[in-house]
Amino acid sequence: MSQMHGSVPPERFLPYLTAPAIEALPDKENTVIVLPIGAIEQHGPHLPICTDTAIATEVTAQALAKLDPAIPAYALPPVWCGKSNEHARFSGTVILRAETLMALLRDIGASVYRMGFRKLALVNGHGGQPQVLEIVARDLREEYPDFCIFPVFSWAVPNCSNDFLSAQEREHGLHAGRAETSLMMALTPDAVHPELAVGEYPPDSGWLLTPEGGFRFAWLAHDLSRSGVIGNPDGATREEGEQVLASLVDGWVQALTEIHHFRMPLERES
Ligand SMILES: [Zn+2]
Repeated sequence: MSQMHGSVPPERFLPYLTAPAIEALPDKENTVIVLPIGAIEQHGPHLPICTDTAIATEVTAQALAKLDPAIPAYALPPVWCGKSNEHARFSGTVILRAETLMALLRDIGASVYRMGFRKLALVNGHGGQPQVLEIVARDLREEYPDFCIFPVFSWAVPNCSNDFLSAQEREHGLHAGRAETSLMMALTPDAVHPELAVGEYPPDSGWLLTPEGGFRFAWLAHDLSRSGVIGNPDGATREEGEQVLASLVDGWVQALTEIHHFRMPLERES
């Protein structure tokens, strides 16, 4: 059989269905369609450029495998590139303009709606594009009044990654730091090169102005880092990655279950 489904259970991989089978699916309004969205972008000297796509795709694939079989849910193949222009100065980066990514996601969303589905989870692995996904999600919501869209960061579900991180890494580990490195050692061990890992934090000015805080400045990766790493992968291990992965998968099982049960309009107490 084709391996197009990767780690997604084949029976939960939407492209393996036929058009008449999709037409005949029951309860399409509450069937969860999962679209992983990643990036192909530099992740320092030690991580592969597929990191964000791998994380979004693998975490949701494994969650779909663990999900209650009574909950209807299907994955689409991942969108493997995204809005990564903050890494333009580095090699190994594919850049979609925000307009391109918005148009792509709007068209995919409209197609999912046309098939009769009413719940679409946009599972995003790349920290540089949540804003784009949120705009598309709200626009689709406005255009199709009974469409529920869930634009979520793959790391936003409860998980244990913070247990392993220093306060500095929690706050400033933005890119290719310890959490991503451990997780990739669990997901694609042969593509990780721990011996080449370097840690690099942007200088701490003590100012209110920070790259990702409440009072921020627009930055490009080379403003903050020479190596392409923003954070410190020191201490990352495959065992830690396995634990983080298991907790993310459990978090996504809960999230996909909630999406299945979610109802719009929201029920109110009278
Ligand atoms: Zn990343």
